[in-house]
Amino acid sequence: MNKTVTELKPSVVWSHFESLNAVPRPSKREQRVIEFMKAFGEGLGLETIVDQIGNVIIRKPATTGMENRQGVILQGHLDMVHQKNADTEFDFETQGIESYIDDGWLKAKGTTLGADNGMGVASIMAVLSATDIPHGPIEALFTIDEETGMTGASNLQPGNLTGTILLNTDTEDEGELCIGCAGGLDTNIELKYSQVPTGDGEALRISVKGLRGGHSGCEIHLGRGNANKIMNRLLWNTGKQFGLRIESIDGGSLRNAIPRESFATVVVDADKTVSFKQHVSDSVTVIQSELVRTEPGLMVSIEPTQSAGLAMDAESQARLVRAVYAAPCGVIRMSDEMEGLVETSTSLARVHVESGIALVQFLTRSSVETARDDLANMIDATFQLAGAKVEHSGGYPGWKPNADSEILAEMKRIYHELFGVEPRVNAVHAGLECGIIGGVYPGLDMISFGPTIKNPHSPDEKCEIASVEKYWRFLLATLKQIPAKH
Ligand SMILES: [Zn+2]
Repeated sequence: MNKTVTELKPSVVWSHFESLNAVPRPSKREQRVIEFMKAFGEGLGLETIVDQIGNVIIRKPATTGMENRQGVILQGHLDMVHQKNADTEFDFETQGIESYIDDGWLKAKGTTLGADNGMGVASIMAVLSATDIPHGPIEALFTIDEETGMTGASNLQPGNLTGTILLNTDTEDEGELCIGCAGGLDTNIELKYSQVPTGDGEALRISVKGLRGGHSGCEIHLGRGNANKIMNRLLWNTGKQFGLRIESIDGGSLRNAIPRESFATVVVDADKTVSFKQHVSDSVTVIQSELVRTEPGLMVSIEPTQSAGLAMDAESQARLVRAVYAAPCGVIRMSDEMEGLVETSTSLARVHVESGIALVQFLTRSSVETARDDLANMIDATFQLAGAKVEHSGGYPGWKPNADSEILAEMKRIYHELFGVEPRVNAVHAGLECGIIGGVYPGLDMISFGPTIKNPHSPDEKCEIASVEKYWRFLLATLKQIPAKH
């Protein structure tokens, strides 16, 4: 027999999830879900605020006898990623998500499910609407646009929230407590150069391909090759002997991805083409052997191409190649607080040379803001030596793990009491809303946790039904045992 979603337990959570999922809620177009949540809070007779960016705050007073507890901010994001399979007919703007149960998991019919972070939001709604759950003072914080820029969290106003503990519900492994994340900072570098006639020679297109890429935070410690660094190493190794002139470079794409490919058009002296190719090939063999385990697919090809007739002036070319060579890239420091966690890293995301301007872009991450800025300064100094203009932008704070956190100790104890095992405690080397919220409200004691969700942001997204019940029991027990105000 096929159960429907509303027949699942705990029914109060699943029924809120169903009603939330009936509301279209793509990132940056959250108006309908903001209205939905405002009506929900007001309908319960609770103080409901929509702030200027669109975050919704709903306050619920403590239940009888719980007034002396610390205020808890329950937080989730309202928006979801809208993705569907190519063969699925679906209009996210007008249709609600259609879900079904399959072997212990809730799935959607050819679309993202919205369990990220709809399941967390639904659980908070269930706390707000309940009349039989003991808890201290609650502030529900529903943010917008987590998925495409965290603009809700970034524009949070100080003074709206009074709680001292924040429970974020946006983690995807039940049994795991997340206690830290990385902040980030973009560094954008511009080196203007004179375009000079390329002159005689043979034009060649060098392609670095076949790398794995991946998330430049979560996967930076895996030792994968950076296409921009590899391309630059080839250009450095061959720069002097072959009269190499760079006409253009196009390496990397997304600012938060490890670059998988880089392409360069260069011109070398015609009588040196054969030895140039041999030299590159030898260098590639060396790099392939260095990366044999992490990048078995690394390939470099050199094909004849058309010269554009204009190249970088020799002085600028030398400065660019030296600076890219000297610049830090990859993991810089591991965390002192947590074994195996990357504390600080940077990734050379983009190198783009064309029409008189070389653009270089880094994304630097750290759970320690001063360490992030220190590393960004190294990049800054390197490229200033090369005569480039350097700007930093898009900075957001990290969340430094606090092993002495009071709520962490409580939740570890409660989890063990409920389930007889220790929860795993971890942190991520990527941005979370907690980092940003903690920047606006310093001193919050924060934990992120949630039910198990697989393949978020894709039509394969699914939520483990049994994990929702465990998560819910854990949440209720935690609310019941929140420490008293200091
Ligand atoms: Zn999420």
